[in-house]
Amino acid sequence: YELTYQDMRVMMRDTVTLLETQAILHNIAIEAEYGTDPLWIYGVENQVKQVFINVIKNAIEAMIDGGAIRIKLNRESDGVYVRIHDEGPGIGEDQLAKIGQPFYTTKEKGTGLGLMVSYKIVDNHQGKIVVKSELGKGTIFEIMLPFRYP
Ligand code: ADP
Ligand code: MG
Repeated sequence: YELTYQDMRVMMRDTVTLLETQAILHNIAIEAEYGTDPLWIYGVENQVKQVFINVIKNAIEAMIDGGAIRIKLNRESDGVYVRIHDEGPGIGEDQLAKIGQPFYTTKEKGTGLGLMVSYKIVDNHQGKIVVKSELGKGTIFEIMLPFRYP
């Protein structure tokens, strides 16, 4: 659990590389915009990567007809923002209140733990996750971590 300064762009690039094959197998393209400036955070590398993995995997699993996952990274004042946009079915309002609760899953073989763990990790890093979703259109997971210059 070593805390280090990390460039979120590097962590996201590693994660996209890790999941690209799985996405292609599902007819999904991952399109990421990293920007030009380093996006420094201070955190536990493997934990932050785990959050990216959990959210992108959910996006892949939601997009049964394929499509594009769009990822955008940028800095806004004191926060580094990662927005992960999918073209899945979206999440209804009552369902939205339940995601992240332990063992809440709508999948036959789901654990319902991925988002709970992700919320916990982001919270431990003084960040936040906001979910915006529209039924029939898709979902955006917005992950914010504080910008910390090394
Ligand atoms: P699991 O993936 O094992 O089901 P998660 O905690 O990762 O557990 O997700 C919980 C639930 O939240 C999922 O079962 C699904 O219903 C919903 N969910 C998460 N991400 C998405 C998404 N991108 N689009 C639609 N539903 C989602
Ligand atoms: Mg999951």
